[in-house]
Amino acid sequence: MWEAALRLWPMSDELKHTTPGEPDGAKRAPAPASAAPMRVGVGAYPESVTRLIEELAKLPGIGRRSAERLAFFILKSPKAEALELARAVTDVKQRVRHCRVCYNLADNGPDAAATICSICADDRRDRSKVMVVEQPRDLIALEQAGVYKGVYHVLMGRIAPLEGVKAGDLTIHDLLHRVREPGANAGGVPVREVILALNPSLEGDGTGLHLQHALGGAGVIVTRLARGLPTGSQLEFASKAVLADAIQERRAM
Ligand SMILES: [Zn+2]
Repeated sequence: MWEAALRLWPMSDELKHTTPGEPDGAKRAPAPASAAPMRVGVGAYPESVTRLIEELAKLPGIGRRSAERLAFFILKSPKAEALELARAVTDVKQRVRHCRVCYNLADNGPDAAATICSICADDRRDRSKVMVVEQPRDLIALEQAGVYKGVYHVLMGRIAPLEGVKAGDLTIHDLLHRVREPGANAGGVPVREVILALNPSLEGDGTGLHLQHALGGAGVIVTRLARGLPTGSQLEFASKAVLADAIQERRAM
């Protein structure tokens, strides 16, 4: 694979000079001793290529073969594009923080104490409604629906005793503080409703029950997202649990 890639990839002058069979190859000086070492046992790639493959293979859903494919794509791409990718990775680690109010991702520079996300900073949103989600990507999905105009709170996970994740590992304490102290909420607005938008799983339901109990007596309405038949699905193929939810959560027309 490495040899095949070299045929596709424009060779550097140094590589051209050491190519066997070149008409004037005999006149060239031998390759310098400092040439990139080849690591045996991992496909004999140069060390920098091996390192790139190993780093890419750590990404979720990327196996060894995919990592090799991506590494060669980067090798073959123009230098400016590859450096732009490297810069994007650096920026995301250096600039992105969690919002100090809701734990959503925020791109607010190096001052972590002042970091606030674009949703919390938007005074057109109804900050008295706080929708609780497990992960920032759940928030993105809900935002794309374009219906909700309140604010959010990201738990950074869910209670999962089998995986050793406890309530104290999440941002539940910050949510409770936000509900009890209006000054801790976005814009200093008192929270009136907490909407639980957790995944409809065993852990999601358990986390929801924990929050419902913890928010009891805080003077807020606690609601959760409706469950039932997804739009575009067919009733005959729905599971018993989905049908039971749909019947229980029916509404007047
Ligand atoms: Zn925020």
